[in-house]
Amino acid sequence: MKTATGCDYGDTGSQLANGSRLRNDDHFRVAFVFATKEMKREDIKPLVVKCPKCGFENAFNQPYGYHTGFGNQGFLYNEAGNRTLIWSSFDPDYIAVVGNKHPWTLGEESQRRLEAILQPDPSGGGKWLFSNPARCLKCRNPIAEPIGTNVYYLEYDGSLNLDPLGNPGRGLKDAMNVSGKPPL
Ligand SMILES: [Zn+2]
Repeated sequence: MKTATGCDYGDTGSQLANGSRLRNDDHFRVAFVFATKEMKREDIKPLVVKCPKCGFENAFNQPYGYHTGFGNQGFLYNEAGNRTLIWSSFDPDYIAVVGNKHPWTLGEESQRRLEAILQPDPSGGGKWLFSNPARCLKCRNPIAEPIGTNVYYLEYDGSLNLDPLGNPGRGLKDAMNVSGKPPL
């Protein structure tokens, strides 16, 4: 595991914070399928993202940065940058707001519409916004770029994973305002 500079993605060799891509997509795809279908939670090697500012090693209970495209998922960080909201591209309540578009392809207007109907993070970390980066748990320095800039995401402990694949019965509606409609 490399820890010399920036954040560390262990065996995959990818680095979120500096925006570089994986060096070997095939390896990543194989690892992703294996991880989602075969691995039990306790088998997953933690992902450590070293803060470029304070050096704190932020640990995540995931083997690598999850890829929105392979998972057909959207993600937003809260304003505190310490929780992740995750949902499916195919969530009907999401499609009702922005149409049939993947979350990482949304234009600014669609982003604002979606942000406007989401309730703030229930743990008190503020709004889910497309501009929020992931932040160091110790000093709050950004450690990973927001969606749209970065296709990989970090899932913090206590995050809101509303993708029904793996979370049966959940959906983005669980994070929406009661009306499910954007304010006029
Ligand atoms: Zn830090």
